[in-house]
Amino acid sequence: MARYGMLIDTTKCIECFSCRVACQMQNGLPPEESFIKFYGQEEGTYPHVSYYTVPVQCQHCENPPCVANCPTGASYQTEEGVVLVNEEKCISCKYCMVSCPYQARVVSEKTGVVEKCRFCIEEVRQGKEPICVTTCVGNARIFGDLDDPNSEIVRAIAKKKAKPLRPDLGTKPKIFYVR
Ligand code: SF4
Ligand code: SF4
Repeated sequence: MARYGMLIDTTKCIECFSCRVACQMQNGLPPEESFIKFYGQEEGTYPHVSYYTVPVQCQHCENPPCVANCPTGASYQTEEGVVLVNEEKCISCKYCMVSCPYQARVVSEKTGVVEKCRFCIEEVRQGKEPICVTTCVGNARIFGDLDDPNSEIVRAIAKKKAKPLRPDLGTKPKIFYVR
């Protein structure tokens, strides 16, 4: 069984927002409900400053506090390590939202369900890749099996020394970033 993860190379992200637009369309999301958010980071002191963008979405944590704190079992982890939400069990208490350190959750105004990125798992099970990967103009995203030592993602994480966001939190995110 694969254990899915993603690499996002911020040096390749051109801030075109194609990933977010494609994600919104695939998931039928209105503009104000976004699974992918962008955070601008500045480094250095004037005049030697640089700026880069960090696309952030659900990190599909190995130790997900959103799952641990969900009182109904609506938030759960699949065998592939993907964190999903069972709409029928979600009571919109927002415990998952407040316990997510990456602010990855959004409330659907239409259904009240607290949703988030699902790594396009239905499509992935059919042999496709997540839509944010296939539409990335900068080729900044790699998706694959973290347990396969020969996979493109595992080799790229090692080669580019990619790291997860806030590893100190102990959530063990499965999205790795190159900065
Ligand atoms: S990033 Fe947030 S919503 Fe996603 S698995 Fe981790 S804690 Fe849960
Ligand atoms: S599609 Fe790729 S290049 Fe464009 S904003 Fe998203 S991550 Fe960045």
